[in-house]
Amino acid sequence: MKSEEKIIAIQPLGGVRGDVVEVVAANLKAFFQIPTQVFLDQPLPDGAHNLHRGQYNCYPILKFLGTQKPDHAVKIVGVADVDLFIPILTHVFGEAELGGHATVISTYRLDKDEKPVLPNCLYDRAAKIAVHEVAHTFRLPHCKEEDCIMNSFPVISHIDDKPVHFCRYCLTFLKDAYEELELPWQLGR
Ligand SMILES: [Zn+2]
Ligand SMILES: [Zn+2]
Repeated sequence: MKSEEKIIAIQPLGGVRGDVVEVVAANLKAFFQIPTQVFLDQPLPDGAHNLHRGQYNCYPILKFLGTQKPDHAVKIVGVADVDLFIPILTHVFGEAELGGHATVISTYRLDKDEKPVLPNCLYDRAAKIAVHEVAHTFRLPHCKEEDCIMNSFPVISHIDDKPVHFCRYCLTFLKDAYEELELPWQLGR
């Protein structure tokens, strides 16, 4: 039996803008050197909406994404435009299963700055958040190196000046994760 090519699945959620989804898919493909496949938009799962907070809980969304992931997808990335939270935090830009399969990101807070944000800035932020969150699913923790994409960023504008770059430590962790998943490694620099 011929094994199917491994992909990163991109799952648009709740009618998120298609152009942002395409940018996220293209950047993940370019960065991780794994083909991406964009699935048809799905509604956000029942139970994710928290009426009291007026926000969406990441955990039911991650669970839902797990049910949508085909076997040949090494990861599944939900892309939404709603305000996401996890119970211990007021809001998040995205959330990932550390060392798992699923991650969700949202554009909701990416353009809510002091100043109006240009479309390219939204694209840039969405792409960087997606790379950061997908790397968490490859078991990468947060990193102390300032210029590393795995550095944590409580304020969104902090990532604007960052290149999409992994420090050499994070790159080593990532290489180990690729080896375990038998993914071809073409990221070494
Ligand atoms: Zn993080
Ligand atoms: Zn790092």
